[in-house]
Amino acid sequence: MTIFQKIIDREIPADIVYEDDLALAFRDVDPQAPVHVLVIPKKPLVNVAGASEEDRSLLGHLLLVVRDVARQEGLVEGGYRVVTNNGTDGGQSVDHLHLHVLGGRQMTWPPG
Ligand code: AMP
Repeated sequence: MTIFQKIIDREIPADIVYEDDLALAFRDVDPQAPVHVLVIPKKPLVNVAGASEEDRSLLGHLLLVVRDVARQEGLVEGGYRVVTNNGTDGGQSVDHLHLHVLGGRQMTWPPG
C-alpha cells in the first residue's frame, strides 16, 4: 500500500485542501514552491502509463480539480505549473498517480 493510499484511508494525516468522491488534494510535505499541492485520484492508478480507457473521465476530472485548487490557492492571476512524474526517469517516487500543482514563484525551464 502506498503512502497516498494511507492518506486517502485517513491512516496518516495530511493537510487536505480539497476532496470529492473521486479525488483528494493535499499539501506536499516537502514543498518546492510557496504553494505545492498534490491532486490524486482515490482510485489507485499507479501513474499516467497505468491508466486505461475506462479512466478517461477520471483523468479529465483530475485536471478540473487542479483548476479549482489553483483558484482556491490564489494562483490564477500569477500562473502555476502542473507536473506529473511518470516512472523512474520521470522521477516518480510514490506509485499512486499524483498531479503536482506548483505556484507562488516564477518557475524555470527546463526542469531538473
Ligand atoms: P513524486 O516524486 O513525483 O512521486 O512526488 C511525490 C511527492 O510526494 C513528493 O513531492 C513528496 O514530497 C510528497 N510526499 C511524500 N510523502 C508525503 C506525505 N506523507 N504527505 C504529503 N506529501 C508527501
